[in-house]
Amino acid sequence: METRIYLNPKENEIEKAAECVRAGGLCVFPTETVFGLGANALDENAAKKIYEAKGRPSDNPLIVHLSEPVEAELYAYTTDDYYRLAKAFMPGPLTVIMKARDVIPKTVTGGLDTVAVRVPSYSVAHELIRKAGLPIAAPSANISGRPSPTRVEHVIEDMNGRADIILGGENCEVGVESTIITLCAQRPTVLRPGYITLGQLKTVCPDTVVSEAVLGKYEGQALSPGMRYKHYAPKAKVIILDGTQEAFYNAVPKSGDVGILCFDTDEKLKTLRNAKTYGAAKDSNMQAKMLFECLRSFDKDDTIKRIYARMPSDEGVGLAVLNRLIRAAGFNVRKV
Ligand code: AMP
Ligand code: MG
Repeated sequence: METRIYLNPKENEIEKAAECVRAGGLCVFPTETVFGLGANALDENAAKKIYEAKGRPSDNPLIVHLSEPVEAELYAYTTDDYYRLAKAFMPGPLTVIMKARDVIPKTVTGGLDTVAVRVPSYSVAHELIRKAGLPIAAPSANISGRPSPTRVEHVIEDMNGRADIILGGENCEVGVESTIITLCAQRPTVLRPGYITLGQLKTVCPDTVVSEAVLGKYEGQALSPGMRYKHYAPKAKVIILDGTQEAFYNAVPKSGDVGILCFDTDEKLKTLRNAKTYGAAKDSNMQAKMLFECLRSFDKDDTIKRIYARMPSDEGVGLAVLNRLIRAAGFNVRKV
């Protein structure tokens, strides 16, 4: 298929994209987290095209994007907690899972009886959803398994020829996908960490807990199916070395096919061959913003076969960085 690309979409181009969504097409759009690959969330066939374009397993559900929090009434059985969370964090990088109403096709929910909703803050996303007059189902706009796209170049790499329209305009400020919280468990439960931290969620829903699946291998029933798959991976194999900078330096092979993923503040590691940095050791926000871009940049050098990565902090937004990196590494973490 021929993909129309609007790098800095004007109003009439966003209108064209909205028409495309109404007609059952696929449209990529920027959000504050990562780029999304969107389709009409009420149209089963349109949603199916998303899975095909990404090569995504059909039991991995999509997030339904809305222009206003109150629209969730139409698609989910909302609760008081939902409105408290919406008041505090929407529009913004938070996805809330509730029991779904029947209008949402099972293709969108991956067969579950729950639905995930989110209200993105970026203006292109907001305008697209508003002009379409529909909820837009959208996962990240990458080929399944690859790092999520945070710049329009990444989207063009993965989705040119697979989506009808690509909208640019803003690169992604947060850089990792939304925090996902389910309101369908005994206590509000974080299924995927993101920019909105556990501490922030607890100020609104004090009972909130973090699912064990966030840092562990997912083996239980499908609370959040996306957590089961190896994800976010560059072409080279990723190995996380958990230890001090000195121990990392001593443990890492010094051969040519090795890449190093470390922090701006790792003075000794930065000088190693093929070293890339993605923020200071204590700057989890910058790490989140740069992680996927940095992982993708290793793909440009196909002599690199193994990437040794430093272990990020598990606090605040660090938990989101660690969650993504552990999956990029297929859970390969070694103590050094
Ligand atoms: P992506 O937008 O690519 O980050 O993928 C969306 C993720 O949201 C999926 O991988 C799921 O883990 C999660 N998700 C979406 N809907 C649900 C749901 N109804 N229940 C649990 N998790 C969901
Ligand atoms: Mg994704």
